[in-house]
Amino acid sequence: MGGTKILAAAINSREGIIIRVKKETPGSKEKYIQSLAEIVDAVIEELHLGKSNIKAVCLGVPGSVNPLTGKIGLAPNLGLKNFNIGEKLRKFISYPVLIENDVNLGALGIKKFGVGKNAKNMLAAFIGTGIGGGLIFNEKIYRGSNFIAGEIGHIVVEKNGPLCGCGNRGCIEAVASRTAIVRNIEKDIKSGRKSILSADLKNKQRIKSKTLALAVRQKDPVAVGRVREASEKIGVMLAGIANLLNVDMIVLGGGVIEAMGNSMLPWIKKSFHKNVMMGSEKGLKIVTSKLGDDAALYGGIPLAEEFLGVKV
Ligand SMILES: [Zn+2]
Repeated sequence: MGGTKILAAAINSREGIIIRVKKETPGSKEKYIQSLAEIVDAVIEELHLGKSNIKAVCLGVPGSVNPLTGKIGLAPNLGLKNFNIGEKLRKFISYPVLIENDVNLGALGIKKFGVGKNAKNMLAAFIGTGIGGGLIFNEKIYRGSNFIAGEIGHIVVEKNGPLCGCGNRGCIEAVASRTAIVRNIEKDIKSGRKSILSADLKNKQRIKSKTLALAVRQKDPVAVGRVREASEKIGVMLAGIANLLNVDMIVLGGGVIEAMGNSMLPWIKKSFHKNVMMGSEKGLKIVTSKLGDDAALYGGIPLAEEFLGVKV
C-alpha cells in the first residue's frame, strides 16, 4: 500500500511472483479500501485459479501496525490513524487478511528469499526518500512492545539538526535520506558551487536517485561530497546498532541503495568499521539486497506462515 499506488501480486514459495497488478490510489479512505478489494479480485481473476487456492491476503502498510488486531496506529502517507483496516477489509474479502508494516515485510522477504537466507540476527535498512529498518532476531521478525521496533530513521544523530517529518530535529532520515542529500546539494549550488545537477534544479525538476547516481559516477564534486557525507553518517548509525544488537548481517536496500549502492557501500563500510566497537563487527556482513520492491511482496509468505500456520 502506497500513498499514490497499490502494488499487488500473487505469490507462492515455489514459483515466486506469478502475477502483479498496479493501481493508482483514490483519495478517500472508503474508496481506498474498495480499491484494495478490487485489486485483490483483479489478481485472482488473472490467475485463473480456484478461490480455494488463495491462503491469505497480506497487506504491507507504510506505518505502525498491530498485526494481531489488524489495526493501523498511524500511516501518515495514507492519512490513516487508529484505523482497523483488517476489520474493514474482511467485509469485502473472504480470505484471511493479514497486515504488517511494509518495512518489516521487506525484512521478512529478504530473510526468507533474499540475501538474508542464512542470517540468524539481521537488520534490514532501507534508504530512500526516508530511512526505515526491520529487525530479525533468531530468524523471526522483532516487532517491539508497541509494534514500532526498527524505526532507525528517527535515531537522532545531530543536535538541533534539520527538521524531520516526525517533528524532531536531526534524525538520521533528516540528514542522510535522498530528500536530505538533495536538499544539501541545492544548498551547495545556491552558495555558488558548480554541479552538473544545477540545470535540473533550475528547471525545478525533482532529482531522483538515478540522477544522483549518475552525477556521482561522473564524479561531480558536489554530488560526491553530499552522498559520501550521507554514507558516512549511515555508517556511524549502523555501527551504533551493531554495538547494541550484535547482528550477523546488515542488509541495505531502498531506492538510494538500488541506484548507487556500489558507490555508497565502501563509504558506509569504512565509516562503520571506524566507529564500531571491537568484537561487534566480528563475522558481521554488510550487503545490499537484490530484491528491490519485491522484498515486501515475498514477505507475505512468511507472514502467512507465521499467523496461519500454513505452507504457502
Ligand atoms: Zn524523525
